[in-house]
Amino acid sequence: MQKTALFYRSLITANQRPLRSVSLFRQAKFLKSAQALPDLPAESQREIAFAGRSNSGKSSVINTLADQRQLARVSKTPGRTQLINFFGLGDGRFLVDLPGYGYAKVPVATRAPWGRVLGDYLHTRDQLAGLALVMDVRHPLTKLDWELLEWFRPTGKPVHVLLTKADKLSRSAALQTLRGVRSTLARTSPNWTAQLFSSLKRTGIDDAQAVLNAWLAADGHEDPDLEGLGPT
Ligand code: GDP
Repeated sequence: MQKTALFYRSLITANQRPLRSVSLFRQAKFLKSAQALPDLPAESQREIAFAGRSNSGKSSVINTLADQRQLARVSKTPGRTQLINFFGLGDGRFLVDLPGYGYAKVPVATRAPWGRVLGDYLHTRDQLAGLALVMDVRHPLTKLDWELLEWFRPTGKPVHVLLTKADKLSRSAALQTLRGVRSTLARTSPNWTAQLFSSLKRTGIDDAQAVLNAWLAADGHEDPDLEGLGPT
């Protein structure tokens, strides 16, 4: 009898954890676009920013994590492409879509006028828990990516690199790139990490959720993934 109960309990627990994990990002709803620091939502307690070159696959990553086809479309709407777009996840947590970079040949964080806002945001936003940096696995760590990384480094906050479009490479080539990126990042900062991702094949989602959930949960917050589950 007790064995049967344990069996069912283990099934429920096994099923609940991934569902909870996914649902945090599934709740993402567009809140607002900010064009200056005073516009940033005061109600945010903790947020994760997504950055990446234009066309790196950043919008697709956000849509895939949120399991919503059109969520990041708002960031591509003319007039909003150079704004800081906030998506609420509930409970004071936010996902932040930063403008894609790469077309103008000026430093990312100093490109006026919005570049200054972006640079100031990355340096001064206390609620910012970490930076998810999206790169096309075929073009990792470009000069502009490094500019952003170097700009962000003094904050000491974590960076997680999502090497997306992994489906475009063979498994062994993708893994080789991952190893190279990981060792380069590790040489620069101990809390910079990387993983493979594919929005097309929907791979890497669980690993990304685990890292980002931990960022959102840190600093005295309960793990949002486990909230309400009680002892198992
Ligand atoms: P963004 O400009 O960085 O937001 O990039 P998008 O998400 O709009 O993607 C740019 C292009 O790459 C689009 O044509 C997407 O369909 C394509 N793309 C995005 N993610 C993937 C992926 O995981 N695999 C493949 N094969 N194509 C992708």
